[in-house]
Amino acid sequence: MIRKPIFAANWKMNIGPSETEDFAKSFLSKVQNRTFPADIVIAPPFVSLAKAAEILGNVSSIALAAQNCSQYDSGAYTGEISGMMLKEFFVHYVILGHSERRAIFGETDEVINAKVRKARELNLKPIFCIGETLDERKAGQLEKVLRTQVSQGLKGVTERDLQDIVIAYEPVWAIGTGVTATAEQAQEAHAFVRSLVAEQFGNDAAAKIRIQYGGSVKPGNAAELMACPDIDGALIGGASLEPQSFLDIIQNGA
Ligand code: PEP
Repeated sequence: MIRKPIFAANWKMNIGPSETEDFAKSFLSKVQNRTFPADIVIAPPFVSLAKAAEILGNVSSIALAAQNCSQYDSGAYTGEISGMMLKEFFVHYVILGHSERRAIFGETDEVINAKVRKARELNLKPIFCIGETLDERKAGQLEKVLRTQVSQGLKGVTERDLQDIVIAYEPVWAIGTGVTATAEQAQEAHAFVRSLVAEQFGNDAAAKIRIQYGGSVKPGNAAELMACPDIDGALIGGASLEPQSFLDIIQNGA
């Protein structure tokens, strides 16, 4: 099964609108008139989406993502942004269930599942994040944690909708720490996640779904990680904040 890798830049709470203009113009000048054997996605903060859309919205080789969205359509939800609103900014993907949303903002598997389903209802493509903490790994709970996150987070999702979902396996202990999972650790976890998808949705769906690795991916480790058979691209935080570094990861990993 040939799966097209997908490289997504998660800027988190970095790069405001004016810096987005600089990044987008610089990145565009580097990728223009080139083709990559990978999908490229950039997830700016909400307030930078308009500027990103203005410069990159019509560039077919780059897609925009949001870093979160509401499970609700509209109404009295102060501070929230709906999927419909995001679509006005050429947003095609949405990162859901990031470990920072889970740990800092208390998002549960149930809430994340509601967001995944709402995103699909609106034809947005979720980048659905899962991953264990260091304590959970040390306690031998890796498989239990991933099983719960996958089964709860993808509950009620149809096989058709699954085709437009990307899973990001991100061991929490590797996010923003500079510590990367070894290729063996990452491959083992990815193969396990794929087996969970097979249990829930069947072998065909499991063979097709793209599973990104996230956690301190850099230009220097991208090739080794991406060479693993069950790793289909990366979700990149820190190393995606600079256009050349993000591009180097894509070039080295794709
Ligand atoms: C992330 O934010 O999803 C991430 C993987 O961050 P970093 O690359 O900085 O570890």
